[in-house]
Amino acid sequence: MLTPESITQFRAQLRGELIEPGSSAYDNARKVYNGMIDKKPRLIAKCADVADVIAAVKFGKSSGLRVSVRGGGHNAGGLGIWDDALTIDLSGIKYVHVDPAAKTVRVGGGCVWGDVDHATHAFGLAVPTGIISSTGVGGLTLGGGMGHLTRSLGLTIDNLISADVVLADGRFVVADAQQNSDLFWALRGGGGNFGVVTSFLFKAHPISTVSAGPMFWELDQAADVMKFYREFITKAPDTVGGWFAFLVVPPVPLFPEALHMKKVAAILWCCPVPIEEANKLLEPVRKFRKPLLDGVGPVPMPALNSLFDPLFPPGHQWYWKADFVKELSDAAIAEHIKWGSQLPTMQSTMHMYPINGAAHRVGDNDTAWSYRDAVWSQVIVGVDPDPANKEKITNWARGYYDALHPYGAGGAYVNFMMEEGEDRVRASYRGNYDRLAKVKAKYDPENFFRVNQNIKPAA
Ligand SMILES: Cc1cc2nc3c(=O)[nH]c(=O)nc-3n(C[C@H](O)[C@H](O)[C@H](O)COP(=O)(O)OP(=O)(O)OC[C@H]3O[C@@H](n4cnc5c(N)ncnc54)[C@H](O)[C@@H]3O)c2cc1C
Repeated sequence: MLTPESITQFRAQLRGELIEPGSSAYDNARKVYNGMIDKKPRLIAKCADVADVIAAVKFGKSSGLRVSVRGGGHNAGGLGIWDDALTIDLSGIKYVHVDPAAKTVRVGGGCVWGDVDHATHAFGLAVPTGIISSTGVGGLTLGGGMGHLTRSLGLTIDNLISADVVLADGRFVVADAQQNSDLFWALRGGGGNFGVVTSFLFKAHPISTVSAGPMFWELDQAADVMKFYREFITKAPDTVGGWFAFLVVPPVPLFPEALHMKKVAAILWCCPVPIEEANKLLEPVRKFRKPLLDGVGPVPMPALNSLFDPLFPPGHQWYWKADFVKELSDAAIAEHIKWGSQLPTMQSTMHMYPINGAAHRVGDNDTAWSYRDAVWSQVIVGVDPDPANKEKITNWARGYYDALHPYGAGGAYVNFMMEEGEDRVRASYRGNYDRLAKVKAKYDPENFFRVNQNIKPAA
């Protein structure tokens, strides 16, 4: 049970800091990326190494506290922390070791993707990650991981070779294709349900500078652009990455002043090939309709992966709604235009990430991520720095989602969901849910790790 003595003993076991309410470090330590989340954990264990994680898991068990695991703290629903819980904060487990000969990267469980990009780029290598560099490696990977390179290299989990895991009973195991392969299967999409991943080993790829950048079109051309895009991106070679967005052009020197604060339809391209080849691949797009702005050029991969960082600093209000999409019908496009033209604030946006190409060449049941037949992962995010606008961004995102959900595939990317309940989690894993529940029953029968998009242990 939790007593002052047990807390003192626990603190003595840790190399990292143990933070309690009342400490001057507490308010900073409980902050997560989404400013809408205001949770107050009972204890925050800033783990310095695997031994700290083992001690924290054992303490969580013996104290009866609910446990949450925090990687980068980016989760939409703030699932790295929880009221009155013990937060196992991995941010101190930060290292990236690149093996240039083997083309692999070992990454500490508390790294963010910017750490990985920084380390791999020096060797002319890259791992497929997300589009914001401050996102945690832990949460993004365990949920699946999509970004600029998904069509070329698959999801982040498709590039995961092995993971070191501290289980609910405090045991340390390695999960890969040979050892604990059921756990390895579940980790690739099943989120933080199965244990604390203290280290990830990824395949890295010889990608250094890519041909990338945005194209913008007027909103009155958005329907035509979407219709063109839905055909183009389903047939394009894997080396064409390009996600569609409605966005407000930020008032920054990167963009011509005439476009500042204009609502546009956009595609953010990324082709991991030289610019001459990328220009050939994108020729049909330019021929179809001349964009308002054509910003495609050579970009170092880490620069592309952090392009949006200044627009989305931590602490803004975020409200998320998401769906997987198999077909983009004319009727769905009409709803997109209606809602996309009503973006309520400068940072609010809708993104459609293509998850076909290389990601489609992995079977529905090969990893826990089950929507290998979906073409897009759609996310609607209401975002604003001002808490007074919380309702405005939430209402818009909900309205947009309600209009588009009937055209979706049923489930959604778990990493783009806030708390939506068990049915939605089931819908997102489809046929893989029951197998996940069995793996959960084997590795975490008491549902110790339940601050996540939760998979209940099979009876
Ligand atoms: C601005 C922004 C941009 C994003 N862009 C993308 C994108 O391009 N592509 C994409 O795929 N996703 C993207 N996401 C979604 C992102 O993948 C999720 O928010 C993810 O949960 C973030 O991981 P984290 O470690 O930062 O989160 P946290 O809040 O720390 O944790 C999220 C969940 O993962 C679990 N977890 C985290 N680390 C570990 C670990 N090491 N071991 C066990 N469990 C762990 C936690 O317990 C929790 O349930 C974005 C999110 C934001 C806010």
